[in-house]
Amino acid sequence: MTVRTRVAPSPTGDPHVGTAYMALFCLCLARHQGGQFILRIEDTDAVRSSAESEQNILGALNWLGLNWDEGPDVGGPHAPYRQSERLDIYREHVDRLLEAGHAFHCFCTPQRLDDMRREQMARGETGRYDGHCLALTPEEVASRLEAGEPSTVRMKVPEAGVCTVRDELRGDIEIDYGQVDMQVLLKTDGNPTYHLAVVVDDHLMEITHIVRGEEWINSAPKHQLLYEYFDWEMPVLIHMPLLRNPDKSKLSKRKNPTSIWFYERMGFMPEAVVNYLGMLGWSMPDGEEKFSLQRMIEQFSTERITLGSPVFDVEKLKWLNGRWIREELDDRQLAERLVHWAFNQDNLDRVIPLVKERLEVFSEFGPQLGFLVDGLPSVAPADFENKRLDQAEIVRVLQFVSWSLDSHGDWRPEPINQLFADLAGKLDMKIRDILAPVFVAISGSNVAPPLFESMALLGPDMCRARVRHAINVLGGVSKKQAKRLEKEYAGLAS
Ligand code: GLU
Repeated sequence: MTVRTRVAPSPTGDPHVGTAYMALFCLCLARHQGGQFILRIEDTDAVRSSAESEQNILGALNWLGLNWDEGPDVGGPHAPYRQSERLDIYREHVDRLLEAGHAFHCFCTPQRLDDMRREQMARGETGRYDGHCLALTPEEVASRLEAGEPSTVRMKVPEAGVCTVRDELRGDIEIDYGQVDMQVLLKTDGNPTYHLAVVVDDHLMEITHIVRGEEWINSAPKHQLLYEYFDWEMPVLIHMPLLRNPDKSKLSKRKNPTSIWFYERMGFMPEAVVNYLGMLGWSMPDGEEKFSLQRMIEQFSTERITLGSPVFDVEKLKWLNGRWIREELDDRQLAERLVHWAFNQDNLDRVIPLVKERLEVFSEFGPQLGFLVDGLPSVAPADFENKRLDQAEIVRVLQFVSWSLDSHGDWRPEPINQLFADLAGKLDMKIRDILAPVFVAISGSNVAPPLFESMALLGPDMCRARVRHAINVLGGVSKKQAKRLEKEYAGLAS
């Protein structure tokens, strides 16, 4: 049997380190046994998915050197590898389930489903579809479909009993069917949900081992039922432990930079990032912490995956990166890496038009460029001192800026300008009072190109990280303050 694994990111945001983590383990599992590693784009959520995010994910995984054998860009025998291009396949499979009586049409309105859920919650029950439309006769279903009434297709789930799913790392897991929802498989718009698409694609793409985050364990019974309904063989399941923030909460961009590009911007070596991800949840037989992707592939076995809660600790990653720099790069190689990282043509082409205006001698270029090749700048509270705002007000403004940037997508100067103008309007403040601390947070000094252009050049990940860093430098925000500010911020948005 050829081992085939896949990573299946949804292109709905920044390229997340969690995606790289899954990709790494998929790749090692497959390549260790001479198998194939596939990249599939799960973009059935048309509203949240974007081509830009897909490009970013592919680019970031490529930067890390986690290359796939089949995927939307390289093609392969099971193309297309983008779910939005496979809609007919899913519809055909839903028809098969409907014909065999494993699925049914549901005409319940969102209003009815809301009421149902609220009542179930009030009774202390798990929110679960109550089977209302199972009672419809085939004639009723046919005539309502004929009349064009909006409907979804749901899968049937046994009324009672226990479902046992096997996870390679955890053994048998028992989940009561009473906890398993009659999952929607096809949405009102005719698009599949994740649960249908993932099962159909994993089967058709001949995936033998599913490696994914442990947050999907509860979905495994639904998937297993679908495999049974289709009479297909279920792949081996490997649910990886989730990466955590140092406080053990699920890794989140509010507490840790989660975008792979942040680590590229900070000047980490991709080899070290991959090594670090490998260390989180897996160990070399000899216990050595520093290892290459090639060594990990050679030595890989799922038996040495640990089920703890791996903490993504940027300080530890820095330490490891330092070892990579010193032990793996000679002086010439380090010089080449630095030139490629900081003074590459792309960076220069973008920054030169901004600083040329202000340049009298070449020696002024270094300070002007400083903001672009810096990491988290060394700023102190005194740098933010301001005649109009005291420190608490500055923290409040920066916190609102940070949240606004979290949900902002268009990183060109003009939309960034607009974001600040909007925020100033909502806070009834002058825009320059908001921009003053942001300038210090982003530029780290008084010498830098104009703010919006600088932000556009730095990109979302580094900008967000610098604003968060500035908040920490200014003493941070306590949980209590955060709650209060969050409330205020929600009020601004509405
Ligand atoms: N699209 C899912 C995600 O983004 C994939 C989960 C899976 O691997 O089955 O997490």
